[in-house]
Amino acid sequence: MTASPHWIEPFPHGIYVRPADAWIDPSRPVPRALITHGHADHARGGHDAVWATPETLDIINLRYGRYTGENAVGYGDAVDLNGVSVSFHPAGHVLGSAQIRLEYQGETVVVTGDFKRRPDPSCAPFELVPCDIFITEATFGLPVFRHPPTPDEIAKLLSMLEANPQGCVLVGAYALGKAQRVIAELRDGGFHDPIYLHGALEKMCALYGEHGVDLGELRPVAGTDKSELMGRVILAPPSALADRWSRRLPDPVTAMASGWMRVRARARQRGVELPLIISDHADWDELTQTIRDVAPREVWVTHGREEALLRWCQLHQIRARALALVEREDEDDA
Ligand SMILES: [Zn+2]
Ligand SMILES: [Zn+2]
Repeated sequence: MTASPHWIEPFPHGIYVRPADAWIDPSRPVPRALITHGHADHARGGHDAVWATPETLDIINLRYGRYTGENAVGYGDAVDLNGVSVSFHPAGHVLGSAQIRLEYQGETVVVTGDFKRRPDPSCAPFELVPCDIFITEATFGLPVFRHPPTPDEIAKLLSMLEANPQGCVLVGAYALGKAQRVIAELRDGGFHDPIYLHGALEKMCALYGEHGVDLGELRPVAGTDKSELMGRVILAPPSALADRWSRRLPDPVTAMASGWMRVRARARQRGVELPLIISDHADWDELTQTIRDVAPREVWVTHGREEALLRWCQLHQIRARALALVEREDEDDA
C-alpha cells in the first residue's frame, strides 16, 4: 500500500488541504473552510473565510447568518488556493450541494460531501468527476439499504390522501432539502393542489423558489381553518410530528420521508403510520456503482456504515480506508 499523499490529510474534525491551508466541512471554527453544502453537520459557524456555491452561502445565511469572508464559486468554476485548484460540482443532495474537486501537482481528489444519484426535481443532478482519491460518505453503506423508486413512495402518499378525505396527511420532512424535494416530487407526480406548511419550512421553501425551483402553491398552516385542511398534504419538520402543534390538524395520518424509514423500528419509534422511503443519500447500489464509475485508485470513507463498503472495495482491488470523521450524520437528514 502506498502512503497517502501528504498534501491532503484527514483529521477527526475535518479534511485538511495542507498547501491551501484550508479545511473541508470542518466541525470546529477554522481560518479557511471549503463547504460542500448547507446541512448543519457540514456547514458550521465561526470560520473566517469560506468557499462554497452561491446557493449554499444563501442557505447558510438564512439559517445561521453570514461569514465575514464569503467566496461564492459556481458549479464548474475553479479557484486557485496556493497552487491547489479547487472546483465545485453538483452532488445531487440538496440545493447548492457540491462535490469538491482538488487538484495539486497532477493528483486529483474528490470529496463528495453527502450525495445521491437518483433524479431529484429540486436540485442539480450529481456529476461524475473522475479522480485518483474518492472521498465519500456511506450513510446507507450496507447491502440491506436499497431505496425503492421515489414515484412509488409518492403514489403511496397520494393514495393515503384519497382514502382519507375527512382527514389530512402530515409528512415529517427535514427543513433543508427533504421538504422541498417531497413537494417537487408531488408536483412531478401530477399533484397540483395547494400544499400546507409548518412555519419552520416557509423560508427555506421561499429560498428554493428564488433559486428557480418551482414548488407550486404553498400555504401556511398558521391561520388556516381546520376545515380547509381536510384532504390536504401538510409538511412539517420531523420534530413537530409528535408535538401539540399537530393537534390543530383534522385527523392526520402521520408520514415521514427519510431513508431510515426502511427500518420499521425507527418508523414505529416515531409513531409514523406511513413510512416513505425517500432519501437524499446514495443507497448501497448507488455507492458501489459510483465507485465503479469514478474508478479511483483509493477510496476514503468519511462517515456512515463503512465496514461493508471497505470490504467491497477490497474485493474489487481498490484501496480503501475509513476516516471516521466526528459529528457527522444528522438523524433526520437522510
Ligand atoms: Zn447533508
Ligand atoms: Zn451530512
